[in-house]
Amino acid sequence: MNKSVNANQEFQSDFLSVSAARAAISDLIRKTQEHAKLKEAIDIVPLKESLGRIVAGDILSPIDVPPTDNSAMDGFAFNSNELDSNQDQIHLRIIATVYAGQTHSPAIEVGGCIKVMTGAMMPANCDTVIPQESTTSNTNGLISFSKDVIRPGENRRLRGEDLQAGKAAIHQGRVLRAADIGLAASLGISTLAVYKKIKVAILSSGDELCGMEEQLQAGKIYDSNRFSLYALLDRLGFEIIDCGIVRDTPEDLRKAFSAASQKADVIISSGGVSVGEADFTKQIMDELGEVGFWKIAMRPGRPMAFGSLKPLSPKTTPTVFFGLPGNPVAVMVTFYQFVRNALLQLNGASKPEIPLVSVQSAQAIRKKSGRTEFQRGVLFRDQEGKLLVKTTGSQGAGILRSMGEADCFIILHHDQGNIAPGDWVDVEIFDGLL
Ligand code: AMP
Ligand code: MG
Repeated sequence: MNKSVNANQEFQSDFLSVSAARAAISDLIRKTQEHAKLKEAIDIVPLKESLGRIVAGDILSPIDVPPTDNSAMDGFAFNSNELDSNQDQIHLRIIATVYAGQTHSPAIEVGGCIKVMTGAMMPANCDTVIPQESTTSNTNGLISFSKDVIRPGENRRLRGEDLQAGKAAIHQGRVLRAADIGLAASLGISTLAVYKKIKVAILSSGDELCGMEEQLQAGKIYDSNRFSLYALLDRLGFEIIDCGIVRDTPEDLRKAFSAASQKADVIISSGGVSVGEADFTKQIMDELGEVGFWKIAMRPGRPMAFGSLKPLSPKTTPTVFFGLPGNPVAVMVTFYQFVRNALLQLNGASKPEIPLVSVQSAQAIRKKSGRTEFQRGVLFRDQEGKLLVKTTGSQGAGILRSMGEADCFIILHHDQGNIAPGDWVDVEIFDGLL
């Protein structure tokens, strides 16, 4: 770690770039994962319950896929070596029909072919299938086709062409999606070894916060961050420990963080890390572990605390701590930009990154070089059908509605300056096919 990403960095020191913050987080996550031996904690789960879980080891195929050579088309199977090479027009006699699922077929003879359905086993000695629509059939049981329309070996799927027995069908670290579950089923695999879910504790800090069970008093606001965090974590399938609202006093903070770190692998708090407010949190963190209070060159989400808390019995391994800013949009932005990938990485996922897509901006966007901005964007098509992005308008970090109205982040990178209409910008789309 270089000086600028040291976890003990002073609160008032230089701004940390988003990429330096990510690197420091990734580094600590890797060490924590090794220390906690998280990759040794495994669940065996039924296939239907494995969606979103993270695969604990390469899943090898027990069979060849497809299990036998078979036809890729409805058509006629024949042996290309036995065609009369002097003839341009080929005539073959239909000897038999083989359907998908049928386990044996009559032997082919010279001048003959076998009618096959898609997925039917290739009859012995046949290497090629001519699709039905490329042939003409006569009433006397002959089919005819021009020799030019087909090359030897066409329309035949070979045994093991998709996957060979013993080869990895799904790789370690994969976050399982619907296609993986279908693939495992196609191999006859009914249970999967996945990493145990990491436990994530969430809490909200602030004297102004009010729970839904209480009457909203003057000067108070409902605690919404714990609910967005809960939903974000729930979607990713982690085990969530809700530690409620914590008052801004050293005693309450100490009690809450100690209790949470006894149970959880990770603690995520929101609020209480901005200048002037961080003193209590900072004091407690100095007692409980090693936490850096960062000023990140980004918008929104500038202040963030990150580090690890010393193990408290019964736990024997440190707890990762994310102290997110209090502003509701900043919570979501910092979660997506730092916490999400870190949690997936800690839980053994190999590729947690979300892809960036480049689109043209429909409007001018003011942007200062030297910080990364995550603006809330809406994708749309103009009259010519061109995909464009515009902002949701007001970008205040407290305006949670702007997150709801958006369907992507417009990411304006560290060195980027003002954006003119038509400039290409990177976006991160909230929802794809799931
Ligand atoms: P802080 O980072 O604690 O200074 O909070 C920044 C802003 O976010 C303040 O306006 C807080 O009232 C608001 N805020 C902090 N925590 C929450 C929360 N849990 N839910 C909703 N708003 C919050
Ligand atoms: Mg506060």
